Amino acid sequence: MALQMKALLFIILLLAGMECTTETTVYTCNSPNAIRYHFREDCRGLSGCQYQIKKTTLENAKKENKTLCKWERTR
Ligand SMILES: [Zn+2]
Repeated sequence: MALQMKALLFIILLLAGMECTTETTVYTCNSPNAIRYHFREDCRGLSGCQYQIKKTTLENAKKENKTLCKWERTR
């Protein structure tokens, strides 16, 4: 019983911690000409990417002066 309580507490703490540190994950095309970031890996704007799709954070994408993909602006 005590072990179960500990496990439950651990899960709660884990979830709470995740919420605090959640960063928005975005995807960019790893092309030197890429100027967009995408919230969805399967976005139409990424389907034409000839390079690797890079997973990054919204913060990083903005640092690289990337702007939100035009397909996702109208959400
Ligand atoms: Zn997109």
